[in-house]
Amino acid sequence: MIVYGSRSTHLKSEQLRNAVCPNCETRGQMTASVYGRHAHVFWIPFFPMGKQGILECQHCHKGFKPKELDEKVKLEYTNFRRTVKTPLWKFAGLGIVALLIGAGIYSDKMNDAKVEELVASPAMFDKYTFKTETNYYSTFKVVEVYEDSIYVNYNDFETDKKSGIKDIDLEKNYDKDIYVLTNAQLKELHDSGKIKDIERDK
Ligand SMILES: [Zn+2]
Repeated sequence: MIVYGSRSTHLKSEQLRNAVCPNCETRGQMTASVYGRHAHVFWIPFFPMGKQGILECQHCHKGFKPKELDEKVKLEYTNFRRTVKTPLWKFAGLGIVALLIGAGIYSDKMNDAKVEELVASPAMFDKYTFKTETNYYSTFKVVEVYEDSIYVNYNDFETDKKSGIKDIDLEKNYDKDIYVLTNAQLKELHDSGKIKDIERDK
């Protein structure tokens, strides 16, 4: 369940020096207030949804909407409204999302760099997660390393999600038959983006 909605907070108020109240005609007693609405998700402010202004005469206490004012008062109100900035905290949720996306991209790039490094120098017991021809995920592990090729055991199982690898990566699932992958084949597999991860025990 996602709890979301919107709410307004007070941003700024100011007494308009020259405005004349349309009701009691007192000068300089109109107070303009600007409120900012924002969307929130789980009570975290996400993004601003615009500003609303109201005015009140301190003399006769009548309230006005900006559109009810005559041009002169409206101009003074508009000039004040321009000085009201949306506080940064109203973007908190968007900021969090941007950070998470940034962290995700960073972590993908780090993994790409790791895979590239490990493909270039295979070692015994390296475990490769790769994408199959039919867009499933499976694994193979390196059992011998030679100068121009590696010998591998394939996993007999595959999974439709990368996160499912941990469920099929069991010792008994590995076929004892040995397959040869030449360095060129391994490079091709890597270049085509099919190698998703390599695990190496330290
Ligand atoms: Zn008034």
